[in-house]
Amino acid sequence: GLASSEPKEGEENLRSPICCIMGHVDTGKTKLLDCIRGTNVQEGEAGGITQQIGATYFPAENIRERTRELKADAKLKVPGLLVIDTPGHESFTNLRSRGSSLCDLAILVVDIMHGLEPQTIESLNLLRMRDTEFIVALNKVDRLYGWKTCKNAPIVKAMKQQTKDVVNEFNMRLTGIITQFKEQGLNTELYYKNKEMGETFSIVPTSAITGEGIPDLLLLLVNWAQKTMVEKLTYVDDVQCTVLEVKVIEGHGTTIDVVLVNGVLHEGDQIVVCGLQASINLGPIVTTIRALLTPHPMKELRVKGTYVHHKEIKAAQGIKITAQGLEHAIAGTALHVIGPDDDIEAIKEQAMEDMESIGTPICVP
Ligand code: GDP
Repeated sequence: GLASSEPKEGEENLRSPICCIMGHVDTGKTKLLDCIRGTNVQEGEAGGITQQIGATYFPAENIRERTRELKADAKLKVPGLLVIDTPGHESFTNLRSRGSSLCDLAILVVDIMHGLEPQTIESLNLLRMRDTEFIVALNKVDRLYGWKTCKNAPIVKAMKQQTKDVVNEFNMRLTGIITQFKEQGLNTELYYKNKEMGETFSIVPTSAITGEGIPDLLLLLVNWAQKTMVEKLTYVDDVQCTVLEVKVIEGHGTTIDVVLVNGVLHEGDQIVVCGLQASINLGPIVTTIRALLTPHPMKELRVKGTYVHHKEIKAAQGIKITAQGLEHAIAGTALHVIGPDDDIEAIKEQAMEDMESIGTPICVP
């Protein structure tokens, strides 16, 4: 169950890194998520992956299994990887500008046939503004003329199977895209040639249809996160939590879908979220968590509208929260927990400061 995120003896007390997928429309963000989720993989092989609220969780064992061909003996120190299911999500427009900081790292998807496009640059600017590290997935390599499919293969292995013409076209397009990134003030390089990660952003060629490069992408994400973000990923007691969506659910009233980035949430916790009354007045909502819900782990058993209840949930997870008074909660803002020794007024103020720092205008339909 969810308690398996507890570190085993000798392991470091790290939470799962949180990753989001960004990029121009039609570059393959949705398909890439499907592909790493293994939706297209035969049943059984996708072992351990769980669908969460607004996110998909990949346990470390699953990542290890799928990256075996890369012969990376690197020990996975994080319990897994949480990927936010935002592509195509309506609330993402809201979150894009406000909450991209909820992600520790991002996959920026670029179509190898199209190069950088307007929303690629928009995403780039958001990532830079938020200081979020990212990896470029240079997607649709299978569309290179004459590409020979090597299903789910590491990219170097797949490239070795290609004709000289395919390799030439690949190199030409790659060079062009590296130049386009340079015009945006960014150094990028193929990940296995990148000697200075951090200074130079890594490019992983992928196909979201045939799966080439997906093992590389997964391994790179996890390795990089645990190598460079230990402090950020170290488990803390203070709750760090972002509201993704506000939704009315039959039988539960208005609920909020959140990503618990760090810390623990309990049933009965007193919380503060930002609210908007009568479309104009910003004000903190103070309420109590009635239920912490997650979908049933097994898709087959999932009955529409039913959830698993939890007494407590430890980060990082996607969770649905039910509580009174959430009708006017605002997506993209932080959720605060009032501890036994905390001053409610101070926390209310803090919640509203977050809100102000995000800045208005806010459009309410
Ligand atoms: P999004 O708008 O970025 O989420 O893009 P989608 O995932 O919806 O993909 C847009 C289109 O490109 C769809 O028709 C996909 O089937 C196709 N597509 C996505 N990834 C690939 C890929 O790696 N190779 C090929 N050939 N087509 C792809």
